[in-house]
Amino acid sequence: MNRATVIFGGTFDPVHYGHLRAASEVSEKLAADDFRLLPAGNPPHRDHTGAEAYHRLAMLELALAPYPDLTVDEREVRRGGPSYMVETLASIRREVGSRPVILCLGQDAANQLSGWHRWRELLELAHLVVMKRPRSRPKYTGEVAEVLGERRVRRPSQLMESGAGRVCYLGVTQLAISSTDIRGQLADGRDPRFLLPSTVLAYIRKHGLYH
Ligand code: ATP
Repeated sequence: MNRATVIFGGTFDPVHYGHLRAASEVSEKLAADDFRLLPAGNPPHRDHTGAEAYHRLAMLELALAPYPDLTVDEREVRRGGPSYMVETLASIRREVGSRPVILCLGQDAANQLSGWHRWRELLELAHLVVMKRPRSRPKYTGEVAEVLGERRVRRPSQLMESGAGRVCYLGVTQLAISSTDIRGQLADGRDPRFLLPSTVLAYIRKHGLYH
C-alpha cells in the first residue's frame, strides 16, 4: 500500500456505478491507503432538479457502506455553501502533512480546469489523476496544456515519489452512465435500476428526489 490520500470529488447527484467503478479502478491502480469520495457543497445557483447536499451525502454513504476501503470526506458539505477545490485541498494538506495527495478528475472536468478558482495552485497542493471518460477527449487551451504537459508522468507509482505537482492519465472502464441521465429518467417516471445501487434508488424514492 502506498501512503497517499486520494480525493475523488463530484456532485454525486446521485452517485451511480460510473462513479463507483471509476473510483474502485483508480483506487486499485494507485494502491493508495486512503481513498475518499468528496461530495461538493451546495453551489450558489442550484439547478432545482438537484438534491440538497445532505441527501447527496447520505446516498454516497449508502453506496459505500459495504466497501470500507472507499470513504466519504464530508468537509465541503459540513462547511455549507460553495467550496473551492483549492481551499479543500489546502485543508486536506494541513491534515496529512507531506504525504502525496492525489486529486482525481474525469477528462470532462479536467477540460474545464482553466475556469477553476486559483487552478495553478491545485498542483502545488496535489497531483492530478485524469480519468479518461466516455465521449470526452483532452481539450486544453493555452497555459493549461503547457502546465499539464510538462508535469505528466507515465506510471502511477511516480506519483508516490513526491507530495504534489505531477499529472497522470488513467484509463477506467467506460460506463456511459451520468447523473443527468438518471435524474431525467426519474423526472420522466422511468426506472433507472441497475445504473446505481439499489440502496441509493430506495433512498431517492423514499425522499421523493428528482421529480
Ligand atoms: P452530471 O451528469 O450531474 O454532470 P456526473 O454523472 O458527470 O454528473 P459528477 O458528480 O459530476 O457526475 O462526477 C464526479 C466525477 O466522476 C467527475 O470527475 C466525473 O468526470 C466522474 N464521472 C462521472 N460519471 C462517470 C462515468 N460514467 N465514468 C467515469 N467517471 C465518471
